[in-house]
Amino acid sequence: MKSKDERWVLYRTALELWGSKFQIMMLFEEIGELQQAISKYGRGKCTALNIAEEIADVEIMLEQMKILFVIDSQTEKAKEKKLLKLEELEQDWGNMEINYPEYLTMKRYLNRKIKGEIWSK
Ligand SMILES: [Mg+2]
Repeated sequence: MKSKDERWVLYRTALELWGSKFQIMMLFEEIGELQQAISKYGRGKCTALNIAEEIADVEIMLEQMKILFVIDSQTEKAKEKKLLKLEELEQDWGNMEINYPEYLTMKRYLNRKIKGEIWSK
């Protein structure tokens, strides 16, 4: 596994070799491939390993975007903030069925969907 420094050298070289516009187009292309893989998985036309490969492609392009826009540390800070929000949301979600019983049906549905019991519906 390559270190972050080693990856950054590769990404800077890629950005220099092919240019920012091309790499941005590659990001869009890789996002599209990930969308397609997840969609195909739902129809049994793709494996979880295919999804892992597409996630790796997207992550590689996203790391290049952090270099291109000089936002590596800002992205980490934003991610931390959003994870705290997610943590709060998850805690609120647990309290929701107590405070808002009408959300219980939706919560049960989403929990089943998350577990993969409902994919094709
Ligand atoms: Mg790909």
